[in-house]
Amino acid sequence: MKICTFPGCDRKHKGHGLCSGHYQQHRKARPLTPLDKQTQASWIAESLKTDTDRCVLVPWQPNRSQASTIVNGQRMNVGAAALTLSGSPRPVGKVCCHDPLICNNGRCVNIRHIRWGTAAENEADKVIAGTHNRGERHSMVKLTEDQIIRIRALRGQRLQRETATEYGISQTHVSQIQRGARWKHLSKEQYQ
Ligand SMILES: [Zn+2]
Ligand SMILES: [Zn+2]
Repeated sequence: MKICTFPGCDRKHKGHGLCSGHYQQHRKARPLTPLDKQTQASWIAESLKTDTDRCVLVPWQPNRSQASTIVNGQRMNVGAAALTLSGSPRPVGKVCCHDPLICNNGRCVNIRHIRWGTAAENEADKVIAGTHNRGERHSMVKLTEDQIIRIRALRGQRLQRETATEYGISQTHVSQIQRGARWKHLSKEQYQ
């Protein structure tokens, strides 16, 4: 039987590669979203197979900074769901923590970005993320794409400390730019 091509959906094909439910969403020009809780879990399970370092954001509950779903009859945030579905059930007393430097997004289900941790660790992450995001906004205003390219070119040519001083940013920031840990996902427009 031909089935819907939407990730995680296993309903019967109706048209345009989609089941009737997804075809309706498509016809109404809505973003395609999972049709029910089971499908949300399937969507996450399917996304776990994707090989990417980028954030993988669930499409449902689009207006919330965090999204949740139901796995094994329990409502949990989507990060916890992703860990659970990846074969790592929640240890007693632990919560789902998103990596504060690369992610900090409660809608992300990329298991490279999430881990089980204590509530205290989660709070500490938020502090790091808050500081980091302020720095990011600051540097987005401050650095142009050309400057990023120039900073990358200076790798190994000059002390990071000197480069940091020249551009008025931290040495850590220089290191992150040079290693490609920062800015690599940003498009050209976002540099400017
Ligand atoms: Zn479908
Ligand atoms: Zn992420």
